[in-house]
Amino acid sequence: MSSDDEGGEEYLFKIVIIGDSAVGKSNLLSRYARNEFNAHSKATIGVEFQTQSIEIDGKEVKAQIWDTAGQERFRAVTSAYYRGAVGALVVYDITRRSTFESVGRWLDELNTHSDTTVARMLVGNKCDLDSIRAVSVEEGKALAETEGLFFMETSALDSTNVKTAFEMVIRDIYTNVSRKQL
Ligand code: GDP
Ligand code: MG
Repeated sequence: MSSDDEGGEEYLFKIVIIGDSAVGKSNLLSRYARNEFNAHSKATIGVEFQTQSIEIDGKEVKAQIWDTAGQERFRAVTSAYYRGAVGALVVYDITRRSTFESVGRWLDELNTHSDTTVARMLVGNKCDLDSIRAVSVEEGKALAETEGLFFMETSALDSTNVKTAFEMVIRDIYTNVSRKQL
């Protein structure tokens, strides 16, 4: 995960995005990595991952962020997807209650395939659609608290909290890793 070279340490963290189909996983990633939004994105088309670098404590920290590429439609997100992940964003759509009710199942799957040290954030996406919300902010917060997750509402459409959400997870992983190295 980290290795020494001439310039000092190098950090590369694998982060996975999970959650029901059409909650906005691919758009959260494209907004974060490329500042792009696609109103007509097709569930079947998707890149495997995007790599994004940020600087923390003067060090370059790279996050390799994985997208399901539509596999979640067929309940086919496999163990290979989770392998080596040290962070996870569990996404639901604040306008579709069923996607919030699925969060428990996604967390079970994450727990089955990875250990408890994975940095986890619950993400209520599409907060630009507040007028048709079906899940309150309080419910999201309460679930996150119960499950021991960070929580944030985001909008891939208008960019609200997208960078903050990804970078909070990346910083948490970095903090844990650098603490272990002391
Ligand atoms: P995925 O299946 O979870 O990867 O979801 P996508 O990223 O493909 O998004 C599904 C649909 O929701 C697309 O039509 C997007 O344009 C739309 N969408 C994604 N994020 C947002 C958002 O933050 N706000 C709104 N209003 N629509 C969004
Ligand atoms: Mg997708």
